[in-house]
Amino acid sequence: MIEQSPYILYSDGNGNIFEDTSLYTTGRTGWDALPIPEDEWIELPEGGQLYELPGRRGIGIDVKTGEMRLCDKGWGVAAFIPPAHTGFYMSAYETEPNAPTLPLFCYTAAGWLNDKFYVPATRIEQDIRQDCAGYDQSKVEFGVDALLKVYPHNRLVDHLANNCALTYQCPAARNYFLGRWECPVPTSPACNANCHGCISFQPEEETIVSTQDRLTFKPSAEEIVEFTVPHLETAPYPIISFGQGCEGEPLLMWQTIAAAITEIRKHTTKGSININTNGSKPDAVQELCEAGLNSIRVSTNSVQKHIYEAYYRPNNYTFEDIIESMKVVRRNGGWVSINYFVFPGMTDSVAEYEALRKLISETGLNMIQWRNFNIDPDWYLGKIGVHETGEFLGVKQLLELIREEFPDVKFGYFNPPAERMTGNYELDFAHH
Ligand code: SF4
Repeated sequence: MIEQSPYILYSDGNGNIFEDTSLYTTGRTGWDALPIPEDEWIELPEGGQLYELPGRRGIGIDVKTGEMRLCDKGWGVAAFIPPAHTGFYMSAYETEPNAPTLPLFCYTAAGWLNDKFYVPATRIEQDIRQDCAGYDQSKVEFGVDALLKVYPHNRLVDHLANNCALTYQCPAARNYFLGRWECPVPTSPACNANCHGCISFQPEEETIVSTQDRLTFKPSAEEIVEFTVPHLETAPYPIISFGQGCEGEPLLMWQTIAAAITEIRKHTTKGSININTNGSKPDAVQELCEAGLNSIRVSTNSVQKHIYEAYYRPNNYTFEDIIESMKVVRRNGGWVSINYFVFPGMTDSVAEYEALRKLISETGLNMIQWRNFNIDPDWYLGKIGVHETGEFLGVKQLLELIREEFPDVKFGYFNPPAERMTGNYELDFAHH
């Protein structure tokens, strides 16, 4: 634990970041700025980045008076904390009238103390699969060259190589070309939801852009089977995952996915077959379970119907359908995770906590992946019509309460391999 609160950071607008030792940094939860307890800070993990927040002044606490005031020395600063870490507070700032909407990244609070950057966060996942230290780009490029030669006519391998691994720098795609762990399998050019913060499609009228472009073709079951069977057969802790950030909703392609899973399981019983999804079609999920699906990860910004539907704006499905999809997989003996977009002040509100307790009891879900919500906080709350946020527990306390009441529910950030789901969950990842 650090001995005092870190100092606030500011940017000079030219890409240089400084500390202001007249102000301690604060954290944002919902629409509020508040002090951050000393025991909630960790050093900014390797792979973390710092962002300047244009048109925004940081909110700090005067080290002499204890009063809250703006840092007028420069623009506000936030941290993008790397995968496997969950943030407890967002960066606190005041937004000027014509400030641009921030792009689709997470904006965790950040501070400076004893020559180090600090963030209020925790490492929620021990799996090292996306630790930036584990990526050697020359080996990724070698893998890309080799596998493009092995599958010269496979549109999906070409997409994973030239778009995902080499352009978007997708950690999952790079792991595929390094022959290890979780391999992404995008399939769907379309979606039946309209999330405000969709990372693969943003409407023209919005000023922000999607972080990836959506897939433009429908792969065949043969194309899927061709490269996934060798991956399941040869990779350590192998997983193949349908449903990626560069596509729409995979359940709209369930017939192709079911045919692929059936064919894959004729060739290998190894590894885990997972789908990341909005969970909109429980009947299709039942078909996939019968074909051999092992696990599902349902994404959500909230487990309260009105907040979920205000963000996802679903076409022809409802919040109840995503709950039913989770139950379907549990009934078929599969593993259920939620991909829970953590937004301090919303995720840890008392109402959300109660709804989460009910969801865990009702569905028997196995895992919560506590993911930082990659979205401009003001823009998000405005889009879903939340103009004031009520009582909250604190994200750290929320984790402790859920862990205490539901000790069998796993916490993490990534889809677990079969070895964790069916065997020793606390695998030693240092020697992964
Ligand atoms: S469910 Fe996924 S692909 Fe569909 S709109 Fe939402 S974020 Fe985009």
